Amino acid sequence: MPKKPAASAKHAEPFVKLSTRGATRLQTRHPWVYRSDIVESAVGSKSPAPGSVVRVLDPRGKFLGSALYSSSSQIAIRMISHGSVDDLPALVAERIRAAIAYRKELVSDTDAYRIVFSEADFLPGLIVDRYNDVISLQILTQAMDAKPVRQAIVDTLRQEAELRPAGIVERVEARIRELEQLPPLASGLLWGEKSSTEVRMNGVRFHYDGLEGQKTGAFLDQRENYAAAAQYAHGEALDAFCYQGGFALHLALGAAGQTAAKCTSVTGVDSSRPALEMAEKNAALNGRELEWIEANAFDLLREYSAANRRYDTIVLDPPAFAKTKRDLDKALRGYKELNLRAMKMLRPGGILVTCSCSFHVGAADFLGVVADAARDAHKDLRLIESRGASKDHPILLNVPETSYLQCLILSVSN
Ligand code: SAH
Repeated sequence: MPKKPAASAKHAEPFVKLSTRGATRLQTRHPWVYRSDIVESAVGSKSPAPGSVVRVLDPRGKFLGSALYSSSSQIAIRMISHGSVDDLPALVAERIRAAIAYRKELVSDTDAYRIVFSEADFLPGLIVDRYNDVISLQILTQAMDAKPVRQAIVDTLRQEAELRPAGIVERVEARIRELEQLPPLASGLLWGEKSSTEVRMNGVRFHYDGLEGQKTGAFLDQRENYAAAAQYAHGEALDAFCYQGGFALHLALGAAGQTAAKCTSVTGVDSSRPALEMAEKNAALNGRELEWIEANAFDLLREYSAANRRYDTIVLDPPAFAKTKRDLDKALRGYKELNLRAMKMLRPGGILVTCSCSFHVGAADFLGVVADAARDAHKDLRLIESRGASKDHPILLNVPETSYLQCLILSVSN
């Protein structure tokens, strides 16, 4: 039988042809292919346009699916479909609706949760969070930045009966736009009038301002861990790296549906004054006054442990220490020091809630470093729960990047 002509010869559509290594990588169901694994890319005699949909071919020209092309990123393509894509905006709209439907089954006790988590929702380069009636989105790639795609995103979110937003804001990370060679853009309202609101997580109230703060505003990935931590926390509690008070407020108030909070005092520590100002406002919103300390948590823990301060509950939720693989050793040393100090300060029966949001620090690495800290602290700890991000941040099997958050809840025996 005569061989089928290679798709590249038949179609004048943009295509990329992969090396064997690139094609093998796609077989693992990871959606990314690096530029170094592309042997040929063309539309007619030109390169594919930035952000275009490309047909992906194996080294022999066999069609593997469709991907979003970036002309600047090292991740040259991100797969979007195993078939052909004729209408990207329509596909994006459909995937957003599917992501919303997925959450409907999984999310409870909150009006603040992630609606779209990029690759984990088959929408690489798009992040969408819901904060009650304000929707906050981030666009991370050339393809998602294209005008018709942006329009489809906003229209779909605006019209979704489930959401009924009063405002849609875009949060821009200047560095990401630079890396994607997209023109600079300011964060701001994309639709509607409202950019700030109030949300509830597990019955605890928080202010949300879509145009302030870190990330998309709050750390929604910790939402279920707040409730879990509140269940075990008791006595005198310290929330190190407290940001706007997510853990601290849950420790002070308890989570909805649980027995009353068992903490007698809660102190939050963060190096960011604006974060603490918001934490204080959040406490007031819940009718509480807590202690907030502006300090470097490393220094404070060192000082407190040297002064023999004792706590019954300590939460450690530092920023990602390992931004790249090269930082891994340094990151592990950082986690070890923090955990060691905290363990030394915990009374028998005390609770340690310890987190890592560094993707490069795997679950086994993190458990290992916490175990090392226990050894050096001469303490026996029992693992009560080993947790990850809330269910609205899905982990897609075979895409390790979607699993980045570790949260261990431990009990100190002696
Ligand atoms: N637990 C928080 C999220 C913490 S994010 C929540 O659930 O909302 C990490 C926080 O660490 C940020 O608020 C940042 O301002 C703070 N931070 C970074 N370096 C710090 C340091 N050395 N000492 C104290 N806080 C620090």
